[in-house]
Formats: sequence, structure tokens, C-alpha cells
Amino acid sequence: MMKPDIWTVQPQILIVDDEKTIRLILRRVMEKDGYQVMEANNGKECLEICEKQLPNLILLDAMMPGLDGFTCCSELQKKFEEETPPVLMITVLDDQGSVDLAFQVGAKDYVTKPIHWAVLRQRVRRLLQTQWAMNELRRQVEKERMLTEKLEKANEELERLASIDSLTMLANRRYFDKFIKNEWKRGIRTSFPLSVVMCDVDFFKAYNDTYGHPAGDLCLKKVAEVICNNVNRSTDLVARYGGEEFIVVLPETDVKGAIYVAEKIRKGIKDSAIEHQNSQVSNYVTISCGVATYYPQLESDLNDLINDADLALYEAKSQGRNRVFFRYNK
Ligand code: GH3
Ligand code: MG
Ligand code: MG
Repeated sequence: MMKPDIWTVQPQILIVDDEKTIRLILRRVMEKDGYQVMEANNGKECLEICEKQLPNLILLDAMMPGLDGFTCCSELQKKFEEETPPVLMITVLDDQGSVDLAFQVGAKDYVTKPIHWAVLRQRVRRLLQTQWAMNELRRQVEKERMLTEKLEKANEELERLASIDSLTMLANRRYFDKFIKNEWKRGIRTSFPLSVVMCDVDFFKAYNDTYGHPAGDLCLKKVAEVICNNVNRSTDLVARYGGEEFIVVLPETDVKGAIYVAEKIRKGIKDSAIEHQNSQVSNYVTISCGVATYYPQLESDLNDLINDADLALYEAKSQGRNRVFFRYNK
């Protein structure tokens, strides 16, 4: 008995022939070779069986009353597309026309009646092996596709995590750098102004000294929240710039608009009334803001925008804190 070593389960073969004796002999030969056998006595029955369970191979008689083998084969391809099991046509018609037609309707191979058994057995074996290899290849490709997809998802998540400040859950400096570079380039293309607001908590060292570092952390979280609540456009970005400094990017916003947002943030922090006994400007936590606006140009430098915001912030600090200062460059 020929037992193909690659099969982990017995391959199923569907024998379709209107002659009972032929089915019987075919069944014997196939079973002897270790295959499981199903039978159909016409094309219609073949389709019905395939609906329920697809075999691994179909031995299909060409000439049958009702739905003949050629039509049946072409129906199978229509119905099951690439899932269609390989079809081996059995025909008495050895003329060129039927051979061509068999392949045209999607048969993978053919043998002629009277059947040469050794030939049939080899062809069945070869078709099954090819089919097995194809399926294996498909499984591998699918496996690889799924792995790639998983990897891409993991990378996306990693990228997201690498862009977030874990204390405030705002964008971090790394993300800010990427974001503002893009906005700068976009500004060059669109000629819209680009504004930034640099915010720094006033006397925060004293806050830590008074209430302790954990309370300082909570305060920064609260400050981050208030800033976010006062920045509305979906295209804006609030990021933690470092320590107790935050930066807001306002694309397509002129200096007037940026000052308005900065003032709203400053007031929002003050009004949230976070106690700060040892601040020299208030009983509550306050922030100072430096605003800078540029119309990005090819020959201008993004760093100048950040530096200007820094200078404006320094100005706000030296003028007494809890206030907004701006620098404007056309
Ligand atoms: P100014 O009004 O001039 O800004 O004074 P300041 O005390 O806020 O400025 P300074 O730069 O001297 O101090 C900043 C303080 O912020 C010092 C540092 O310990 C604190 N700080 C920075 N990052 C964190 C943080 O993540 N958590 C806490 N609790 N404190 C932080
Ligand atoms: Mg600071
Ligand atoms: Mg400070």
C-alpha cells in the first residue's frame, strides 16, 4: 500500500461517476492507497457534497447525464474559487477538443477510459502533493502576514508610548520636536503664521520645598490639565517641554490669537486656585507665558521661534511673573 508520508490525516477523494461499477473499482483502488472516499453519481450531487464538505481531490467523469463533468467542473470553480479542490477528469473522449475543454473549465489533469490504474494512482498522488504544498505555502504566507501585522501594531504602540510624558500624559519633548518641525514645514507651504506659547510655573522650587515632591508632581498634573482645557483646536498641541515647563503649539494662529490663548491659560491656572503659600506673587500657583509667532520661511530658522518664546518668557518672569509676554516676527 502506497502511503504518502506528508499526510497527517487521510486525504478525502470524491468520486463522481454515473456508473456504479466504475465507482466501485475506483473506490477500491483509492482506498488501497490509503485515501478516504466519498461518492456522487452525478454533477449535481457532487456540488451538493462539496457544499457540505470540500474533499482534497475530485475524480470527475466527463460524460454524465444531467450536469456533465465539464459543466460541473466550471460550476465548482465559480462557487469555490481558489478553494476548489483539484479536479482530475476521467474521459473516454481523447480528442484534442475535450482535453482542451477540460483544462479550460479548470481541471488540473485528466486520464482516459479505459483507465490505466498505475497512471491514475500516480496522478492522484502528484495532484494531492501539489495541493498540499500550495496550502502549506498559503499558510506560511498568512502566518507571516499576521506576524508582520502584529509587529506593526507593537511598533505603533511603542511609538505612542515613546511620545508620551508618563506624569502628565501629555506629549513629551521628543514628540513636540517632531510635531513642530512638521508644522514649520507646513507653515512654509501655506504661508500661515505659527505660534508657540511657553509656560513655566512660578516659584515651583518653593512649591516643592513647601509641599514636598509628590505634591509637586500632582500640581504639575493639575497644571497640565488646566492648560489642555484652555486649548481647543484639534490641530493644537500641548506638550511637556521639561520639568515645570509646558509648551503649546498653535498652527495657523497669529500673534493676537496666541496671546488670547496664553492669557486664557494663565487665568485658568490662577482661577483653579491651587494653594501656594510661598509664592512671592500670589497665594495660588501661577504661571508665566512667553508667546512667539513666526511666518515660517525657507530662510528662517525654527530655533528662532523657540528662542523668542523663551526670551518672552524670561521677560514675563522679570516683569513680575503671572503674566504673558510676546515676541512677534513677520
Ligand atoms: P521661576 O518662577 O523663576 O520659574 O522659579 P522656579 O522655582 O519655578 O524655577 P526653577 O527653575 O528654579 O525651579 C524649577 C523647579 O521645578 C525645580 C525642580 O525641582 C522642579 N521640578 C522640575 N520637574 C519636576 C517634576 O517632575 N516634579 C516636581 N515635583 N518638581 C519638578
Ligand atoms: Mg523652569
Ligand atoms: Mg518655574
